[in-house]
Amino acid sequence: MDFRDNPEEAAFRKDVQTFISAEYKKDDDGGTVSAAQAASAGGPDALKRYNDWIKKLAKKGWVAPAWPTEYGGAGLSVMQQFVFNEELALARAPRPGGIGITMAGPTIIVYGTDEQKKQHLSGMLQGEVWCQGFSEPGSGSDLASLQTKAEKDGDDYIVNGQKIWITGAQYAERMILLARTDPEAPKHKGISYFLLDMKTPGVTVKPLVNMAGTSGFNEVFFDNVRVPRKDLLGEENRGWYVGTTTLDFERSSIGTSIAQGQSVENLVLWVQEHRRGTLPETAKMVLAERSIEAETARLMSYRVISLQNRGQVPNHEASAVKIYAGELNQRIANTAMNIMGLPGLLTRGEKGSANDRHAPNKGRFGRVYLQSVASTIAGGTSEINRGIIATRGLGLPRG
Ligand SMILES: Cc1cc2nc3c(=O)[nH]c(=O)nc-3n(C[C@H](O)[C@H](O)[C@H](O)COP(=O)(O)OP(=O)(O)OC[C@H]3O[C@@H](n4cnc5c(N)ncnc54)[C@H](O)[C@@H]3O)c2cc1C
Repeated sequence: MDFRDNPEEAAFRKDVQTFISAEYKKDDDGGTVSAAQAASAGGPDALKRYNDWIKKLAKKGWVAPAWPTEYGGAGLSVMQQFVFNEELALARAPRPGGIGITMAGPTIIVYGTDEQKKQHLSGMLQGEVWCQGFSEPGSGSDLASLQTKAEKDGDDYIVNGQKIWITGAQYAERMILLARTDPEAPKHKGISYFLLDMKTPGVTVKPLVNMAGTSGFNEVFFDNVRVPRKDLLGEENRGWYVGTTTLDFERSSIGTSIAQGQSVENLVLWVQEHRRGTLPETAKMVLAERSIEAETARLMSYRVISLQNRGQVPNHEASAVKIYAGELNQRIANTAMNIMGLPGLLTRGEKGSANDRHAPNKGRFGRVYLQSVASTIAGGTSEINRGIIATRGLGLPRG
């Protein structure tokens, strides 16, 4: 593996750096990867800052940099896209993202009809918010067991059932929805994939409050929701295979590993300012360990991207990165709490409030501590990913 840029990548990196230093006004939104995330973390002001920045990126075709130019992307190679995300993460600038750009759009490009592409892709580039309606109360890791039904009725389907943990559903205009269209078929073969309009009568969204006190995800209920046939993506009963394409697009981790390195840096700066001369030797060793781990996570992302760049599909390699980065998030947050003590738990409150004045490092670590619990669950749990490494990576028998 060659870690250096080739001349073309180096020139592109320079372009991105020049653009960021000319156009990006530093603020506290670093690491935001979607409009829904910006709104949930920082409210309307953060959402406005996010949207202003995205408009600037749009002028360069960099909202969906990896999409082909004919669909409004910049047609970047896998490696250029990696460089682009890496530079945005290094500058702590929000990255364009969300379910539409990163998952629904690329799946529509692969499976969509011309009309579906025309109807949906440009909306996503202009900020239309999408959500992913896959998980159900009884179907997360075993997604193919999902029970939400879509029954044929003339030219439409009637959807009944429930989804859960749906990130950003309260802001979403559309949902990529998996529902069962043939209850008699083996479980992977009776599922279809829909592009649901969230304003359709019968759709109810109920936000769930997580332990960090924010409503990142939601329950979504369907009561006789009528979905026209034109909103079926791919063939009826072949939705499982369309869905796995969507999940393939979910992986990408360079932003995460750079943010982790920056978290460790922030913690070290805080220690230098507040605990100089009072930090036990053991805590210094732990900080050194976290710094090595953040660098390891970065190099592991390079491995996945190198495979993609050679046209290969990362499989157990992507699972290894997901486990490592997810668990590292939690170790960094725990280290911060141990070093900062009780004030570390403070998240930033209203401007000028006691929380705001006393929260170390603008409350970042308090927030990360609460939110990092989800990082070993969302997008595939660590146990499921360990299973993939065991069977597909190490060739161990199933069961
Ligand atoms: C922050 C967050 C955001 C999310 N956003 C979305 C979203 O936008 N859209 C969406 O559709 N879903 C979303 N999810 C749901 C997520 O995909 C599921 O939580 C995840 O797939 C796990 O499913 P589950 O919660 O049903 O747990 P379960 O599958 O019930 O698992 C429970 C426990 O059993 C273990 N387990 C299960 N099966 C096995 C096995 N075969 N071997 C070993 N251990 C096993 C799991 O590892 C876990 O520890 C989100 C989740 C979180 C935390």
